[in-house]
Amino acid sequence: MGMEGNGTGRSRWLEINLQAIAHNVEQVRLLLKPGVRLMAVVKADGYGHGLVQTARVALARGATMLGVTHPEEGVILRESGINGPVLVFRPLLPGEEETIVAYRLTASLSDVQQAGRLAAAARRARQAVRVHTKIETGMSRTGFTPEALRGHVDELLQFPELIWEGIYTHFAAATDRAFTLHQFQTFMDLVNDLERRGIRIPLRHVCNSAALLLYPEMHLDMVRAGTVLYGQLPAGVTDVSLSLQDTWSFWARIVHLLPVIRGTTVGYGRTYRVRRDTVLAVVPVGYADGFGVDVTPRPAGFMDLLKVLVKTAGAFYGLPWGTCHVRINGKTAPVVGRIGMNLSCVDVGNIPEADIGMPALLPVRRTVLRESIPRVYRGLEEAKELRPMVSNLPA
Ligand SMILES: *Cc1c(COP(=O)(O)O)cnc(C)c1O
Repeated sequence: MGMEGNGTGRSRWLEINLQAIAHNVEQVRLLLKPGVRLMAVVKADGYGHGLVQTARVALARGATMLGVTHPEEGVILRESGINGPVLVFRPLLPGEEETIVAYRLTASLSDVQQAGRLAAAARRARQAVRVHTKIETGMSRTGFTPEALRGHVDELLQFPELIWEGIYTHFAAATDRAFTLHQFQTFMDLVNDLERRGIRIPLRHVCNSAALLLYPEMHLDMVRAGTVLYGQLPAGVTDVSLSLQDTWSFWARIVHLLPVIRGTTVGYGRTYRVRRDTVLAVVPVGYADGFGVDVTPRPAGFMDLLKVLVKTAGAFYGLPWGTCHVRINGKTAPVVGRIGMNLSCVDVGNIPEADIGMPALLPVRRTVLRESIPRVYRGLEEAKELRPMVSNLPA
């Protein structure tokens, strides 16, 4: 990462490069045929980069719609002066329809009762509301099953307050070509049925980041990109003609140095024993900040299981597999011992210049890093006026 650790006066901070997000948005747009729209998915606080900031950048660089999970996220976008279309992915609880209508958000529909409640709210406000029907094709989460939608089409068409703007589905395992083709076919069969009945829905969309890279033939009218906009390739996708830039770096300064002799154990549970005389550096981050917190899903197959076992065994025997590394003054150093609630230890035996106050660049899972970590925005002028919205930088 090229960005310099310079969070003046802070002990830990997150540096976000909005110029890199802008670059990534442009890269993704290059993959789309003319007329295919880009939805920028900005849920989970813009994957940790700031909801409002990333939304602004994405819209400025040609995204035509934003994707969020909750209506509240849509409200924040509107209250920040963002007027572009915002699709709320999740089903609404009874009562939340008012928010959709009042803030001119676009709702996803997963059942006909929800459609009825939304239409009623729209009627009360004397306003039309845009909807995208979500179709369940293999994720087993939200959406009408194709049979349910076929059965309810006539009812849906009876609500004049609902503008049926979109129809979409979500892939469960985009790198699994056979299953994804099955989901796509199920979706297209339904869309084609509707078209035969004279119902042409303008925005058909199925692709997340992995699918938009792997299956250009599935782009349809719009793609929904999250991961790639934030500079990462989706797991299992390699070998693409996309040059993504890093958008994010997380830094903490060394607050203490402790020389230790060979055989000393480090941290809670005494899980790690140093194998040589060395120096430990303490950095003020821990799992309460989201550092070292990972999401370990159930292994997806035998090889996946093997990987998890090897990493766990490696950690048990103090081997470097699966160890988390930081960078200090451009050099690599391992995190040793258990990551604490607020403090963690790094072995800096190979970095003699390591000193109090020196910044360490830390790896972190972006969507779990706490909002209590100050965000420092760089790269675009627009960022400056946005700072007070989501970040908690001192003025
Ligand atoms: C999160 C999400 C996306 C974006 O997924 P990425 O893999 O991060 O690109 C797209 N569509 C829906 C419905 C989502 O929930």
